[in-house]
Amino acid sequence: MKEKKTKKILQAEKREQAMIEGIIEGSPDGIGIVVVRLECGCRKMAAVSKDGDPASEIIMYRDQAESICEKCKEDNGSFMRTKESFIHWVEPAPSEEKQKEISLKVIGSTTSH
Ligand SMILES: [Zn+2]
Repeated sequence: MKEKKTKKILQAEKREQAMIEGIIEGSPDGIGIVVVRLECGCRKMAAVSKDGDPASEIIMYRDQAESICEKCKEDNGSFMRTKESFIHWVEPAPSEEKQKEISLKVIGSTTSH
């Protein structure tokens, strides 16, 4: 893999966006969607409430595939294999301080080194 470690801001991709919108629709309490990209290519998403609590079921899927990969079926998409994770905020997004607070609670201190 020749992926460069650039410090770009993580944003939802088009296909993720569609998933995110679906989750938002079904989660009236959600103020953001946690998006976890796993090393294997599968995705894990869940809505989060203003208190940083889960506001929906965790949804797992794999792009252009009928189901998630064997590995994910085994370990349920372990957070150990997280490649990238971020929160997609529902507009209007909460204050920056609140965003930090929730991110910390939900994702923890991610790989920012
Ligand atoms: Zn997988």
